[in-house]
Amino acid sequence: MNRPDDSLYDALVRRGMSRRAFLRFSALMAATLALPATYSPQIAAALESAPRLPLIWLRGQACGGNTEALLAATVPTTAELLLGLLSLEYHESLMTSSGNAAVLARTAAMERYRDGYVAVVEGAIPTADDGMACTVGGRAFRDVVQEVCDGAIAIIAVGSCAFDGGAPGANGGPTKAVGVGQVAGDARLFNLPGCPVNVENLTATIVNYLTFNEFPVTDSKRRPLFAYGGLLHNQCERRGHFEFGEFALAWGDEGAQKGWCLYKLGCKGPETFANCPTALYGGRASWAVKAGHGCIGCTMPSFWDAMGPAYQRLPAPIPFAPNISSDEIGLALVGGVAAATVVHGAATYARELRNRVVGHRRREVVFVEPAITIAEPAIAEPAEPAIAEPAETAIVVAEPVATPAGPVVESAPQPEDLAAPEES
Ligand code: SF4
Ligand code: SF4
Repeated sequence: MNRPDDSLYDALVRRGMSRRAFLRFSALMAATLALPATYSPQIAAALESAPRLPLIWLRGQACGGNTEALLAATVPTTAELLLGLLSLEYHESLMTSSGNAAVLARTAAMERYRDGYVAVVEGAIPTADDGMACTVGGRAFRDVVQEVCDGAIAIIAVGSCAFDGGAPGANGGPTKAVGVGQVAGDARLFNLPGCPVNVENLTATIVNYLTFNEFPVTDSKRRPLFAYGGLLHNQCERRGHFEFGEFALAWGDEGAQKGWCLYKLGCKGPETFANCPTALYGGRASWAVKAGHGCIGCTMPSFWDAMGPAYQRLPAPIPFAPNISSDEIGLALVGGVAAATVVHGAATYARELRNRVVGHRRREVVFVEPAITIAEPAIAEPAEPAIAEPAETAIVVAEPVATPAGPVVESAPQPEDLAAPEES
């Protein structure tokens, strides 16, 4: 398998990347791949010797937002990414060649790196009218995709349009646009949906291959689990407000200004699988909810049809109660939990009360019994001989009585001690 001659690290250093920045980049990749920080040195070591990965980037029916995302990459910068990590052999928007020269550059790269390059596809693929709604070099884009993907070690579909047709394929669409999987098959396919793709996830997918010699594990829709395996809602910094029932109810209201949960303004975070809150956008500066806008679920299948309207909650997915909204289900659940909590609290209080009463009685018994037991001999014993015996023998009898009476008298309860239990 042919590869560009220089290693990835050499190319990055030549572009001016410092050793410290390189190690920081390796650590960030470990974090993006949801790997422990201990993997960072392994990633750095692998990238130091890994050859750059040849890449052929195709653009079909799309707005170009994914190319924009690539150009906005900051960690590493676009220049570092394109000229260091990757060997970008073909990209119609970024290469200087055009027309036949560009097509020749693509076929030459496919020959040179046969079975060694990665095909990246941006945009949907129209299928109506024999695919004539989008052509490249006079050929249907669909045919170009098939040809390029045939010789690739992996196919990466970037953005929601390449994932499943996206906006051009919404509600059927006049061009009958589809995703890459429906043209090139699922084998070797890795879907990175998003509108646009998070370039951190694209970089991490490639780094995963360069480090471990395999592409990341995916879900059933061929989306890497490290990026699409977790519910966005569970990673959101506003989740605490959701739990406490603190919601923004209108754009710009007090709740919105305080950074409360955007669920009631249509945020689809609870229905969306993506790592936006942790991977972030714009050089890891922010993401939609942090910037004050709800998630619209752009990483989900058929999101234009299935996740809209953008500013309303989704209807409840309960077939036998189609008119119940997610809000109402949430309220019912919260109400149910609240009711259960009240019942549990009342039962606990009743049990506590009963234990307290029983315990009080027990304490009374324990306390009173010895007091009476001690008091009886203390009062009765010394008194009897003193009254019953004649006066002349009183001194003789009194001495042996005084000896056992000593300790009894010392520990005998005072009048107030005897009174206390009776009061309680
Ligand atoms: S803002 Fe959205 S993602 Fe964040 S907690 Fe609220 S509903 Fe969930
Ligand atoms: S926050 Fe939601 S809408 Fe925004 S990029 Fe992530 S998944 Fe897409």
